[in-house]
Amino acid sequence: MNNSFRLRRMRMMDDRRAPEFAKIVARCLIVRALRRASLRYALYGQPCVIAFVLPLASDADIFVEAAQDILRSRCRSRDRGAAYYKVVYWNKPRPVGKPSAPDTNLREMLAENRLFVFVSEMESLPPSIRSASDAIIDLVTPDIDVLKMAARTITKRNVPDDVISAVAGEPLSLLNEVFKPNRDPVPIVRRLTRARDVGPDQQRIRSAVEQPTLDDIHGLGEAAVWGRELAKDLADFREGLLPWADVDRGVFVSGPTGTGKTTFAQALARTCNVPIHIHSLARWQAKGYLNDLLKAMRAAFDEARRAAPCILFVDEIDSFGDRETLDGKNEQYCREVINAFLECLDGIEAREGVVVIGASNMPGKIDKAILRPGRLGKHVRIPLPDAEARIGILRHHLRGELASEDMKDIAIRLDGSSGAVIEQAVRDARRKARSERRPLTVADLQHGLPPRIALSDEAFALACVHEAGHVVVGHLLGNEAGRYLVEARTFREITHDGSAGWTAFRQTPGVTRGKRAYLAQITILVSGIAAEAISFGEHTDGGGGGDDSDLRHATLIAAAMHVSAGMVGGSRFGDAGGRGQSTRLRNSEESTARYGSR
Ligand code: ADP
Repeated sequence: MNNSFRLRRMRMMDDRRAPEFAKIVARCLIVRALRRASLRYALYGQPCVIAFVLPLASDADIFVEAAQDILRSRCRSRDRGAAYYKVVYWNKPRPVGKPSAPDTNLREMLAENRLFVFVSEMESLPPSIRSASDAIIDLVTPDIDVLKMAARTITKRNVPDDVISAVAGEPLSLLNEVFKPNRDPVPIVRRLTRARDVGPDQQRIRSAVEQPTLDDIHGLGEAAVWGRELAKDLADFREGLLPWADVDRGVFVSGPTGTGKTTFAQALARTCNVPIHIHSLARWQAKGYLNDLLKAMRAAFDEARRAAPCILFVDEIDSFGDRETLDGKNEQYCREVINAFLECLDGIEAREGVVVIGASNMPGKIDKAILRPGRLGKHVRIPLPDAEARIGILRHHLRGELASEDMKDIAIRLDGSSGAVIEQAVRDARRKARSERRPLTVADLQHGLPPRIALSDEAFALACVHEAGHVVVGHLLGNEAGRYLVEARTFREITHDGSAGWTAFRQTPGVTRGKRAYLAQITILVSGIAAEAISFGEHTDGGGGGDDSDLRHATLIAAAMHVSAGMVGGSRFGDAGGRGQSTRLRNSEESTARYGSR
């Protein structure tokens, strides 16, 4: 038998080995972490350098083997049929004192196109890997769901939640001995728990200690302010100085995709030093039919209750639907899901110590009952980051690199970008530097930014006049319209489909709005066009056209006054928008408008 044939056979035999509990869990944690960090391409065998900080150094071998399994199945060279990736556990101590000579091992490693590096602590990550890596991921200890799934796969039986909770947080190497094929783990766990006399604190799922805190994250706006307050309140609650009834136990976080809603929840958990449980309707739905979904949802709340104090993050809560606009064959299904979610949210005592954070990028599509006080009654928004926040986010993802370089120019060019886009820009820059085998430079960062088109002086002047019109009239009629001015912006350079400016208003909370308010709002909307006409003799088409244009918003408000609010021509209700919401007058806080001008 020639050598290569023997090797292939050995590998085949290796692949046929029964999977081990620990490896299943490790694989799941790696895959989940890559997905959450938007690094799916690493799973598809694309070039990448990813560093992982292990939850426990003693589990290093298990994670390395699991990563090898993942990459082996996905990274094969088409022509050679051989694997072409590398997975290493880097446990060399950091050199103290004078800088060390370049390490040849390291250089060889970085020459690999697909590299996973595991370290037991951030400090032991060599600077060259730190700067070359697409991302540094903190692996957290497995949650109950993952442990349960792995236990069921191995033992072929459903292991009760309390048994799983009792060993959560233990090293995977130990759990590997507890969960063996076709063996009942319950008596072993009972013996283990008795011997160890585990206190409730030890049983808790470990907090997300590796995540950055709110102080490390930029651009979170009012969410960070609320988060810091909550951290103080939770600390007082734990000390017994504040009753649970006085803690803000639910918050709704809205903001465009990629602005850091999940990142905020994770940083908040770290700031409060409590565990975080991340869920979404899609994840519960993946469990099967309606009954399984409801079971999974209730189990998530039960699990959080057992881990209290903790944070339960539910992403994309708009996907529950809004009972006001439900229609068609899914109506009954959606109603049951929303009602079950409301039941889970209800009952202060029932979920004492569990702070629920619901997130969505479509705040207008959420059932009002979910956002009621006592449930997710508090609403905080995470906006697209301003220039200062963009610099902070760039620096966060640069992890100390290019520290002496001025980032203002790049931050300006990233105007309108979310934190996720900024993170991707840094990743792309790193990849470029890596492919050319040299350190990262500012030019690498600039290289991947979206091209900008410089406005002519006339076009820029027009944009300024247009937005000034909104600002002046908004200032004069704001009270009457029940809205207040938040911010106005104009840009000298725009992206291909970008707008040259916008003015944002927010609805003043707690005011009722009659016909005069709606007319004032329409006046504010058309004031940009009016300002253009007064200053230049005619207005351009910038205020019309698109879905977010001034004229479209003004027209919809006028139509709603007429058709559904009984403010013009009698008081009948026509709901011109059908079952949609286009002409509904929703008096929600979230009617921040962007009156764009091109
Ligand atoms: P969302 O939940 O709002 O869609 P995420 O929190 O999942 O966004 O963020 C997506 C990616 O963007 C994450 O990998 C995160 O690191 C990055 N990101 C987003 N906002 C920020 C921020 N303010 N600071 C640092 N990174 C951010």
